[in-house]
Amino acid sequence: MTSPAPVVLLFLDPDFPDGRVADASKPQLLVTDLGVTRGDGIFETMLAVGGSVRKMQAHLDRLAGSAGALDLAIPEQDVWRRAITAAVSRHRTENPPADPAADELVVKLVVTRGVEGAPAPTAWVQASPAGASGRRQRETGIDVIFLDRGYDSDVAERAPWLLLGAKTLSYAVNMAALRYAHKQGADDVIFLSSDGRVLEGPTSTVLLAHVKSDDGTPVKRLITPQLDSGILPGTSQGALFAAARAAGWELGYGPLEPQDLLDADAVWLISSVRLLAPVNTIDGKQIGTPAVQKELTAELSGLFAGIH
Ligand code: PLP
Repeated sequence: MTSPAPVVLLFLDPDFPDGRVADASKPQLLVTDLGVTRGDGIFETMLAVGGSVRKMQAHLDRLAGSAGALDLAIPEQDVWRRAITAAVSRHRTENPPADPAADELVVKLVVTRGVEGAPAPTAWVQASPAGASGRRQRETGIDVIFLDRGYDSDVAERAPWLLLGAKTLSYAVNMAALRYAHKQGADDVIFLSSDGRVLEGPTSTVLLAHVKSDDGTPVKRLITPQLDSGILPGTSQGALFAAARAAGWELGYGPLEPQDLLDADAVWLISSVRLLAPVNTIDGKQIGTPAVQKELTAELSGLFAGIH
């Protein structure tokens, strides 16, 4: 039997400035916690490489945005920063990384609305080793399918209570979409709006690249769906766009339709842990050519690797 991956767990607790250490292999939440009974809460997933958390400020800012959308009062960013640093360093002390090339930890921040009737949210930081699947997807690429999310692309503004731009704990639909894709033999999903716009993956942002303009002249253009279409603003997309702009890429924001992805020179799903996963096929149709895709993936992955 393989032993479970080591997890470091720290609860945010006013009596413990660097977080209260808890045993992740033992029950820690009350069954009346609203995160459990209603999925009422928010989270972030970050990657630490060589002990350093990438894009920490962007994640803390998005956590604050999600908290605002849910009217959740959460601890200050400095409190999170201390607990995150403590969790990562404790994990590396207790489990010294054997292979420097695979020295990656997933760091999760979770806040629930707390126990029913209690005044304060429940909040914790959790650090665990990154699995191999992200690394595999970066290397081999992925096959994806389009799935209808059932909402139109204007719904986020019209119905803010749907919390579409927040990273909430209610991910059962996203996980169901992934299971549906796996049953079809695909690796992942690109959601479409009911009015036919490209949205996002269940745990990732969609990117596409063009290396030729309409008249055939060479360009380097990176495009993502527009951020106000009811998608989560990706911290990876934001950071990669900044690095790509500095490296001379043109940037664009949708609206995108399925055909735009099928006509692209390369398409990726990007997120904090898997990084840049090239999309080989969508609904069985090959995207671009393998040589161009490989070259662009190497260039953008290099830019993205330089981000801290
Ligand atoms: N969109 C959704 C729905 C997500 O869940 C995620 C990450 O989990 C992303 C996009 C990508 O966000 P990030 O790049 O900040 O990891």
